[in-house]
Amino acid sequence: MRLLILGGTTEASALARLLSNDARHEAILSLAGRTANPRAQPIATRVGGFGGAAGLAQWLEAERIDAVIDATHPYADQISRNAVEACAQLGVPLVSIVRPAWQAEPGDRWQIVADVNAAARVLGPTPRRVFLSLGRQELHLFAAASQHHYVARSVDAPDPSGLPPDLVVLQARGPFDLDAERTLLRDRNIDIVVSKNSGGDATYAKIAVAREFGLPVVMIARPDKPAGDVVTSPQDAIDRLAQIGLRSPRGV
Ligand code: NAP
Repeated sequence: MRLLILGGTTEASALARLLSNDARHEAILSLAGRTANPRAQPIATRVGGFGGAAGLAQWLEAERIDAVIDATHPYADQISRNAVEACAQLGVPLVSIVRPAWQAEPGDRWQIVADVNAAARVLGPTPRRVFLSLGRQELHLFAAASQHHYVARSVDAPDPSGLPPDLVVLQARGPFDLDAERTLLRDRNIDIVVSKNSGGDATYAKIAVAREFGLPVVMIARPDKPAGDVVTSPQDAIDRLAQIGLRSPRGV
C-alpha cells in the first residue's frame, strides 16, 4: 500500500521506523515544517501544508495514496479535520493514532482550562514564576499577563515580537526525565506549571515532578480533534492497515 503518515510526533517517527522495514508498504511522512531541523527519518519525507482539505485531497490523488495514518499531536486539530474530510471525499481509509490523555492522580493540583488564553487569565494578578510547557507559537498569548516571570521551553527559538516582557526561553528537545524536570522546576523557583495534556511518556516527567513538589498545574484541555479509525499505538496502526489491505480491492 502507498501510505501517507501525517506526523510531527514521537508516534509518527516510531511508525516511520516500523514501516521502513516493512516491504508491504511504501510510506511518505508529512511534516508541517514547524521545526527548523526535524529529526532525520528513515522514509521519504515531505514538508509543508497541503492547502486545506481540498489541497490534501488533490495531493492524495496525485500520489495514488491507498491509506492515510494521522499520527499528529492531540492539539493539532486542523490537520486532522482536513484529513477526515479529504479521506471521506476520496473513500481513502484513515487510521488515527490517538494518544491517551494523562489522568489526574491523588496529589495532583490541576486546574483544567479551555485554551491558552484562559490559561493566561487564571494565573491571576499576583506575579508568579510560571513554567510554560507549550509550543513556541503560543507564547505571545501570555503577553496579556505580563506581570509574571515565565520560563518556556521549545525546540526552536520563538519569534521575538509580541512576547511577554519577562520571559526566558530554554531551547531543548524532549524526552525529558524526572531528574531534568526536578532540576528545572527547583532551580528556576517555579511556582506554577502550564501544560497541554499531551499524553505519552516523553513530556510526562514535569507533571510527576509538579505532583512531587505540590505545585499547581494549569492544564489546557484537548481540542475536539476529528479522527478516522482510532488506534492507540504505531503497531496497532500497522495491524489495522493489514486488515484494510485484506478488505481493499487493491489489497496486498
Ligand atoms: P494544526 O493547527 O492542526 O494545522 C494547521 C495547518 O498546518 C494545517 O491546516 C496544515 O496546513 C498544516 N499541517 C499541520 N500538520 C501537518 C503535517 N503533519 N503535514 C503537513 N501539513 C501540516 O497543526 P499544529 O497544531 O500547528 O501542529 C503542526 C504540526 O506540529 C503537526 O504535525 C503536529 O503533529 C506537530 N505538533 C503540534 C503540537 C501542538 O501542540 N499543536 C505539539 C507537537 C507537535 P494546510 O491546511 O495548508 O495543509
